[in-house]
Amino acid sequence: MDLTFITTFSPLITAAGYTLVLIVLLVRQEKQEQQTRWFLGFLASSTIWHLFLFFFLANELFPNAYIYLLLSGTLLLGITTSFYVDWPRHRLWLIWGAVATVIVVVVDVLFPAPITALAPEIPLRPTMGGFTALLAWLGLSGSLLVRSWRNYQQTSFPWHANRLLHWIVFAFVTFAGEGFFFINLPWSMVAGQLLRFVGVIGLARAVSSHRLFDVRTWLSRSVSDLFVLFMSVIPAGLLLLALQYVNRYIEPGSLYIPFFLVTALAFMLYQPYRRLINRLVSRVMLGSEFQTGKVVRGYSQTISRTLDVEQLSLVIIGTISELLEISRGSLMLVSQQDKGHEIEPVPAMGVIARTKVFFRPGSRLIEILATQHQPLLQYEIDFNPDYTNLPDEERAWLTQQEMELYVPVHTGTDLTGLIALGPKNSGLAYRPNELELVQILADQTVVALKNARLYSELNHQNDRIRLLNTDLRQQNQRLETLDKIKSDFITIASHELRTPLTQVKGYADILTAMNEESHLTREQTREIVGHINRASLRLEKLISAMLDASQLEVSGMELSFIPAKVETIIQLAIDPIAEAIRGRQIKLHLRGLPDLPPLQADFKRLVQAMHNLIGNAVKYTPDYGTITLSAWLIPSNDDITDYVEMVVADTGIGIDAEYHELIFEKFFRIGDPELHSSGTTKFKGAGPGLGLHIVKGVIEAHGGRVWVESEGEDEQRLPGSRFHVVVPVDAPAVLSLSQDPSAAPRRQPNRRIDLLR
Ligand code: ADP
Repeated sequence: MDLTFITTFSPLITAAGYTLVLIVLLVRQEKQEQQTRWFLGFLASSTIWHLFLFFFLANELFPNAYIYLLLSGTLLLGITTSFYVDWPRHRLWLIWGAVATVIVVVVDVLFPAPITALAPEIPLRPTMGGFTALLAWLGLSGSLLVRSWRNYQQTSFPWHANRLLHWIVFAFVTFAGEGFFFINLPWSMVAGQLLRFVGVIGLARAVSSHRLFDVRTWLSRSVSDLFVLFMSVIPAGLLLLALQYVNRYIEPGSLYIPFFLVTALAFMLYQPYRRLINRLVSRVMLGSEFQTGKVVRGYSQTISRTLDVEQLSLVIIGTISELLEISRGSLMLVSQQDKGHEIEPVPAMGVIARTKVFFRPGSRLIEILATQHQPLLQYEIDFNPDYTNLPDEERAWLTQQEMELYVPVHTGTDLTGLIALGPKNSGLAYRPNELELVQILADQTVVALKNARLYSELNHQNDRIRLLNTDLRQQNQRLETLDKIKSDFITIASHELRTPLTQVKGYADILTAMNEESHLTREQTREIVGHINRASLRLEKLISAMLDASQLEVSGMELSFIPAKVETIIQLAIDPIAEAIRGRQIKLHLRGLPDLPPLQADFKRLVQAMHNLIGNAVKYTPDYGTITLSAWLIPSNDDITDYVEMVVADTGIGIDAEYHELIFEKFFRIGDPELHSSGTTKFKGAGPGLGLHIVKGVIEAHGGRVWVESEGEDEQRLPGSRFHVVVPVDAPAVLSLSQDPSAAPRRQPNRRIDLLR
């Protein structure tokens, strides 16, 4: 065909081609995305441009009009790219393009004369405007390619990166085609139009469909195919040359038999030779191939021995990572529940959070994974229109997983797991045979996963039973202790009641006998009556403590609040035992009492409680020991009330940790009740085991807390005990807090020690 004919009609044919692409895109695209809309504009401008080239190329009036049209096309392609790649400021392209166009037009109007010096014979008669347009075009297309390339390099997921690479390659082809328009050769226009059309077809495919071919694999395959072809041709060529050579020197007809033998041999060797070349090339250029059967056999054997879900995840991902060289992956357990499907990742490689997530019932993603028998690419989730309605939280969770691939593990339509794989270390996309292999491996996993889940469930149940058993044992121990307290009560009560009663009875008998014999002096009577009084006082105290304890049991402590000074409370609590303290040479330090504000409290009860605590400190501290009572204010952290904390610390025998809670129980005393000597202030003098129970009742009724700290019991080392009491300053808060005594603050031990110093 005549070149002039082609040159003349090629713009018209290409314009028809662009129109066709435009129509196809319009018809195919149901939901017009922004990128498609701008691309349709680009196609329209390309059509107009080529029509213009056909009809008005040699137009004298607008010698550079075709360049303006080209520029507007580049501009529209720029905006399309900004939507396609998802650049933040789409309008920027419009502004840049408009500025460039205005500059070109202004230059064109100001300097209309053709630049003869450039190329006098060029038919397009370039002017300064045309030259500026060339620069603007170079700037716009160059920056579009460079920016896209940077985005491509930053994308770690091969399919996402491939999408960009596809765009860059075809945009480059398009621009290369346009570049030919600036070269003044007879065929350059035609070649440019053809090249540009090819580029535009590739771009049209990219905007209209997410299914793109893998550019890198395609390129390396093409190169390797060419190489194989070249290598295969060499022996054939050599054979031909040899024959030609032989033909020259040997008489024709004399070597038929060797000739046929050599040809037959060449044909025989040709196939194995080609296979060898093929294998070598694919190993070097396309990476090593695997033998599916062998891989699957090895895999099945290993996983059939694995009974633990974590172990299974490691084995699955480990095997796949060895084959495909990945460094991120996890097995995901899927279970159907009332509120949807629960997915729990079991991390194997890479940093993956083991957080469960729920996919709501009827989730499109789960449905597809459960019904389709092939891996799902994250790329599909991001770009396939089928997934556009995926809920945001599901999409966000999937993005957060940073996986490239989800391979379903299912029995029939029941999805039990997913094998999630990250991108390959090589940065290449998964090849179809690799996708097929991972799906086969996933199918092999079904039974092993089921067994491992059953086994995990069993382990879980066992753990639960073990916990329940421990709990039961603890409850049992507590019941045993309570039982012991009850039987101790009988011993203690009879012991504590009988001792003063026996005394009363004994002295009464003595009194009667001596009276009958008229031996009784005034002095003797006073002494005996004194003994009787003390014994009955002790009885009275015991009975009132028992009444207090039973009142606590029945209706809790009834309190009447009045303003009370802490210093006075402590003084009254100490008074009855002051003499005993002095007698036993125990040092008593009081700290911080005068600085405290008055409390809203039941004065009598608080005195009783502090008396019990200080009395205990005296009882369990040997002679010459030290008791320190410190108090301070804890400012409110809830704006309701401040608190006062008091600590009774002694240098006594201490209390083992196991009794720190039990000593506040009714009738609980450490050790054998029979072994205690009686007495309220003697060292280790026994009481009925009600003192601390009443303290707890009183303090909690005030809305406070009481607890003990001690390193343990040791009569040699004397580690001592520290009883803490925290009570609120104001009564209204007391009343509300008394419902929940745990609401009262507890201080940190360290802080407390600091405050004590
Ligand atoms: P009791 O009337 O026997 O003193 P409590 O309820 O006051 O009963 O105390 C219960 C038990 O707590 C006591 O038997 C004693 O073993 C232990 N205990 C109380 N205070 C102290 C203390 N400051 N140091 C050592 N042990 C103490």
